[in-house]
Amino acid sequence: MESGVEMEIVIIGGGICGLATALALHRKGIRSLVLEKSETLRPTGAALIVLTNGWCALDQLGVGTTLRRTAIQIERGKLVLLSENDEPKEIPFGVCEEFRCVRRRDLLEAMADCLPVGTIRFGCQVVSVEIDSKTLNPLLQLSDGSTLHAKVVIGCDGVNSIVANMVGLKSTKRFSTCATRGLTNYPNGHEFGRDFVMISKDKVQVGIIAVNDQLVYWFITRLWTSRDSKVSRDSTLIRQSAMESMKGFPIDAIEMISKCELNSLHLADLRYRPLWDLVLSNFRKGTMTVAGDAMHATGPFLAQGGSASIEDAVVLGRCLAQKIMKIDKNVVRVETLVKEAFDNYVKERKMRILWLSLHTYLIGKKLDTKSFIVNSIIISIMAILFKDPDVHCRYDCGEL
Ligand SMILES: Cc1cc2nc3c(=O)[nH]c(=O)nc-3n(C[C@H](O)[C@H](O)[C@H](O)COP(=O)(O)OP(=O)(O)OC[C@H]3O[C@@H](n4cnc5c(N)ncnc54)[C@H](O)[C@@H]3O)c2cc1C
Repeated sequence: MESGVEMEIVIIGGGICGLATALALHRKGIRSLVLEKSETLRPTGAALIVLTNGWCALDQLGVGTTLRRTAIQIERGKLVLLSENDEPKEIPFGVCEEFRCVRRRDLLEAMADCLPVGTIRFGCQVVSVEIDSKTLNPLLQLSDGSTLHAKVVIGCDGVNSIVANMVGLKSTKRFSTCATRGLTNYPNGHEFGRDFVMISKDKVQVGIIAVNDQLVYWFITRLWTSRDSKVSRDSTLIRQSAMESMKGFPIDAIEMISKCELNSLHLADLRYRPLWDLVLSNFRKGTMTVAGDAMHATGPFLAQGGSASIEDAVVLGRCLAQKIMKIDKNVVRVETLVKEAFDNYVKERKMRILWLSLHTYLIGKKLDTKSFIVNSIIISIMAILFKDPDVHCRYDCGEL
């Protein structure tokens, strides 16, 4: 670790991206303060798939080895197509070099444990961000009525980011699909092995992946209905609606839902940032920028949103450190260097997030559409642009 540099960097949001960013900065000897509105770490969504590129980024943060111990390697994939009239059809598929499913709690804890005490301030919701007219620095209004002056603000505040609005991004949009996620514990071991199983029937897809030999993560994607706002607030209703959407699915999959850990359940609509918004934005205003879902919310169809957020953190940490190390103690040029660092970060991330966003948008729209023609057009575009199924997970965000 390089010697400590004093900077008043405030990260809004202590989710995957906020903690990864704080850790990247800490590894470079740069202090930051993370403001998280929840009272504790917030592992919403149970678990997430982390592919080769995500592991590269976690290794740069120094938590890859610890996390690999919590999540087994998945070796192959199997798509099961169900239909009313025919026998189920099984299609095997390969998975990328490193494919593991990590409990969100394990991921957040692994990163938080490496941060200096006092880095995360829980129960601290930022309600607005303005530019202070006197200092021209960001001024944060907190929900307890207090204000906080910062030299630098990094918005890692997720799909409904207030910092994203400040840097000129529009609100995220919604796919017609929603996702239920949960964990099921099998104290005597489960029988899903090391396969990533996807089962599909009409507009319902179920994914099943082992976290370890006892714990299984699963998700269901289906069309969002008007009842779902109410359902999403009650775990028992979420489980009930998940079971209802699985009529005709194999019995072991239905049993898995019925025995799930109620407190792991989460039902959410799926949101994305329109491509033009990403193309046109420079993701910066003064010394403020965004990372993670705040920058590039995508549908979860490629299982890349979390990994891309960790990549953001590595690149942002590297770009900031490169500039901050040049600070001349006598000539205060901090703001100029931070702006340059953020512009370098955005330049490096833009193509990566555009490709990921385009691909997930196409898959999301394919799930949304009922039109045969639109479906065929999307399949053709994807066949041309995304022939290589491993293209996204071969990406290497480089050294921190
Ligand atoms: C159904 C589904 C499945 C997914 N599966 C995968 C997967 O398998 N693999 C993968 O890589 N990605 C996956 N993703 C994407 C992944 O979850 C996100 O990309 C990732 O969580 C983004 O992290 P983040 O830190 O940017 O945002 P978040 O995880 O949303 O964290 C934002 C944090 O900011 C806090 N916050 C928000 N506003 C404020 C405020 N005003 N003040 C203070 N704190 C605030 C929130 O409490 C939260 O803790 C999935 C997403 C969905 C919806």
